[in-house]
Formats: sequence, C-alpha cells, structure tokens
Amino acid sequence: MSIIEKNRNYIIDITGMTHEGQGVGRIEGLAVFTDGVFEGEQAEIRIIKLNKTYAVGKLISVLRPSPARVKPFCGQYKRCGGCSLQHMDYGAQLAFKAKLVKDDLERLGGLKDVLVHDTIGMNNPFNYRNKAQYPVAVSGASIITGFYAARSHEVIDSEECGIQDVLSNQVRNIVRQLIIDKGISVYDETTGKGLIRHIVTRVGFHTGEVMIVLVINGRSLPDGAAEELVRRLIGAALGIKSIYLNINKEKTNVILGPENILLYGSETIYDTIGKYKFMISPHSFFQVNPVQTEVLYSKALEYAGLTGSETVFDLYCGIGTISLFLSEKAGKVYGVEVVEAAVKDASRNASLNGVENAEFLAGEAEKVVPELYSKGVRADVVVLDPPRKGCEESLLLLLAEMQPQRIVYVSCNPATLARDLKYLDSRGYRATEAQPVDMFPWTGHVECVIMMSRVGK
Ligand code: SAH
Repeated sequence: MSIIEKNRNYIIDITGMTHEGQGVGRIEGLAVFTDGVFEGEQAEIRIIKLNKTYAVGKLISVLRPSPARVKPFCGQYKRCGGCSLQHMDYGAQLAFKAKLVKDDLERLGGLKDVLVHDTIGMNNPFNYRNKAQYPVAVSGASIITGFYAARSHEVIDSEECGIQDVLSNQVRNIVRQLIIDKGISVYDETTGKGLIRHIVTRVGFHTGEVMIVLVINGRSLPDGAAEELVRRLIGAALGIKSIYLNINKEKTNVILGPENILLYGSETIYDTIGKYKFMISPHSFFQVNPVQTEVLYSKALEYAGLTGSETVFDLYCGIGTISLFLSEKAGKVYGVEVVEAAVKDASRNASLNGVENAEFLAGEAEKVVPELYSKGVRADVVVLDPPRKGCEESLLLLLAEMQPQRIVYVSCNPATLARDLKYLDSRGYRATEAQPVDMFPWTGHVECVIMMSRVGK
C-alpha cells in the first residue's frame, strides 16, 4: 500500500536528525520525525500525526540500535521535556552537535571551507545547571514538583534531576515537605487559585552560595510557615545565603512576578566565570552552565585576537560577561543590550571587578550601533551573541560598512548563524573557524563561536 496512514506502524531507517535531536526518516518520501532514535538506527514507529509535508512518529521499538545507544540515566526521561539525547552516549552527542553546525553552515550558508572543530564537551556532564525552576502541582492526594512534560504544562515529579545541581534537588525536597507538613495550598493554572507556584533555586557553582525564591500567588505564607521554611532550609546546612518570596498574582506562564520580599540573608549571591565575579539577584540573568560559559567566552576572546588598543563592540551583551572577558585585552568595550535591568547588572559587574574600560548602553543593537556610528565611534572588532532568531539584516549591513577587522559570532542556533554568516560573507567577511561548545549536555542545544575576518568584497 502506498498511502501513509495515521495510527499504523512502519519500519523506517533514520537518516538524519533535527536541531532538537529527533530522528528523521522517510516513508514514501515523506519526512517522519521521531523522538528517541538517532541517525543510523532502524526502528518500528507508529504514525501519530500526519500532515501534507511531514509526519510525527512514536517510537515502538529500536530494531537496529546504533553502537552509540545507551540506557537513559533518568527514570523520567521519556516524559520530561528537559533532555532529549539521553539515549545517546556523550561522545555521540558531541559529534552530533559539531555535525549540525557543519551541515547548517554548508547547506543553509553555502560555507564549505569553515574549519568546524570537534565540540568541546564537559569532563563531567552531570549536575551542571545552576538554576532550577520547579513547578509545584497537586496530583491525586500528593504534592508533586519537578518539571513540565515535553511540549505541555503537565508537571512530572522529579526527586532527583541528573543535570541540576545536587543542592537544587535537596532544596526542592525540603520545600516540598514543608508544603505538605503545613498543608499550604498549591496554585492551579486553570482556576488561578492556590498559593505556591514555583520553587526557584540559584546556585553559585564556584562559590557554593545558594539563593531560594519561592514564587507565590499572594503576599505571604500562612502563619509561621515562612519562619519554618527558613529554619528548615538553614538547618540543612546547604550554604543557603538568601531566601526570598516572589509575588506573582498574574495568570501567566512567566515564572517570576515583579516583586521580591527578602525572608532571610543577603539580597544577592555571587558566582565567578573565569577570574570575574558576578552578582546574582532573583531577576538577574546568569548563564546556566558557568563551567562551559568560561570555555565558550575564552574562545570568543581568542578569536577576537585583541592586542590591547582595539575598540570592541559586544552586541547583545546581557550582563556583560563577554565584555568583561574582552576588557582585559581591549582599549575600550561598548556593550549593547536591550534589557535595561541587564545593562544595570553589567555596569555593576564591571565595577565589582574594577573594570573601567567597559561602557554599557541600553537599547536594540540595530538602533544603538547606528547612533554610535553617527557619532564617529568605530569598532575594530565586533562580538555578536544574539538570541535564537539571530541578527537584524540592517545591523549586519551597517557592520559591513563599518569594516571592523574581525567579527566573532557566538550563536545558540546554527540555522540563523548560517543565514547571518552567508549575509556577511557576501559583504566581505570570511568565516574561517567554528568551535562548538557543549553548554547543555543531554539536550539538543548547540552553542558555537565563529571567527570571521575581513577580506574585502
Ligand atoms: N552575551 C550575554 C548573553 C547573550 S543572550 C551574556 O554574556 O550574558 C542574548 C541577549 O540579547 C539577551 O540578553 C537579550 O536580552 C538580548 N537581546 C535580544 N534582542 C536584542 C536586540 N535587538 N538588541 C540588543 N540585545 C538584544
């Protein structure tokens, strides 16, 4: 039979992979996307969604496993939306990520001569996340807290997540027990009623300092519960430096509300990346894997090839992490970032580290750079670290006109990276090297840094 049918089983060869790590195979020429299988494998799948241009399969069984297939280490792997590559051994994940970068540069960017290095992985790819946000929910008679299921808001209970810091897992268990013991109500997304919404933990990987933010749909905990929460958390001797309530009364998917009430300890905690110290408050952004962030940004610094006198633009600078790395070897660094709170953090972090040659400007890069340019400010080197959608074309055009010697592009999305590099290539910038760095082991996320030099049109 030549027509593909929904709810029927098929045997397919997996010949490719998506950016999210799904296996791609074909039936009658139609692409079928299936979680949990990878390139080189043969599997029996059931078609669970059928469109004109593609289908989605559910894995029934792997008929011919790849030698790189491993048993997932997490019992919730199939349901949780957090990791998607636990069925692949770590070396195969790293190879997959480098290949993704290479394929996108070639196919989407037409760039065949870029030297794509092997992905730099972690020595210990476990418990690397320094920030956890556990949704709290009621399931039957019990209180559960963990993570959302893939592509949904169903909460999956998780006592121990293998990619979260061990301290976060411990905190989660203590707070959950307190909610049960004190009979505190739990927020219900559909009705908007109930108190406890999320448990947020932030851990300074290098300093061991811990911050806890309990997000509530109200202004306070019931009688005595706040004191008991502090007592139990401090009693556990986990290095907790700061405990907050966060007020979020909106019916929204945004986790943190605007207001924080400090219950215990200091307003901020600190962590380091390389030799720089960073301040973390409940709302501030901080890279979730500081170990690999140092690797990635050291590469960016190396690719920038600074000699000490250059003017550098660090565009999409967030809290200024790359700017600080660059400041040591640059004449002057301008950081540009659209979120004002992040710009304030960036300035504070610069002062905290005694960095005087970095200046931070709030606004969209595509608006702020033209303003700098019209004032006569020119960059010798530009570093770009945009969000997944990449850069605005108008910004790239202006950069090409400004003619910096080098452009270093840090990307979390190889597809938009390839598009932007292609554009820059046509305007005189040649990408020579790409270094993928694994910031998020066991997930499909790929980060890489690219070196581009001006060769003229
Ligand atoms: N380099 C940063 C992280 C970059 S993440 C660091 O080291 O912390 C991408 C950043 O781009 C985010 O902080 C986001 O707020 C910012 N951003 C998004 N669109 C922007 C735009 N058009 N102009 C400037 N910044 C933008």
